[in-house]
Amino acid sequence: MSTALEIQAELERRGALLEGHFKLSSGRHSNRFVQKFRILEDPTIVEPVARAIADAFRAERPTVVVSAAVGGIVLGYETARALGVKAIFVEKEDGIATLRRNFSLGAADRALIVEDVVTTGASVREVIGVVRDAGAVPIGVGAIVRRGDADFGVRTHVLLDMPIRSWLADECPQCRAGEPIADPGSRRARATPA
Ligand SMILES: [Zn+2]
Repeated sequence: MSTALEIQAELERRGALLEGHFKLSSGRHSNRFVQKFRILEDPTIVEPVARAIADAFRAERPTVVVSAAVGGIVLGYETARALGVKAIFVEKEDGIATLRRNFSLGAADRALIVEDVVTTGASVREVIGVVRDAGAVPIGVGAIVRRGDADFGVRTHVLLDMPIRSWLADECPQCRAGEPIADPGSRRARATPA
């Protein structure tokens, strides 16, 4: 599973690509949603996806994989396994992205940043900031799906580019049509939206 078409077909087969009326974590509304845990819950798909990301950066000799909690941890760990390096992750402390748990990162490190689904790219930018603050070099960003056109100023390799439109709530055509909205990223939402 290495081509974008193969990955897209697999995501569709697993119900990871949803169509409907969704509230995104940004608060914007969209007619499509990527339910990333339909991928991350299954090691038999995470393994080849992570290997494809690892292969794209292997020649640049990353010394560590850095991802963002929570979803990025699974993919980062598996990518690190494929590269034979450690996997560490950034998490929020008092609202600030930081390395906790005595994770070590320094000037000798060449960090590969790994993310599952890139939407606005905000969390990837935070990880890059943490890497640079530690004196390490961000060698690139690897992701499964890119929904927008986020640019990180480092080499970026995504397995599936899937631009998805979104709207501010008060400009959403589906809201105007009176269609009920699903909030699939919410902790409260358990049912999979149709
Ligand atoms: Zn709406």
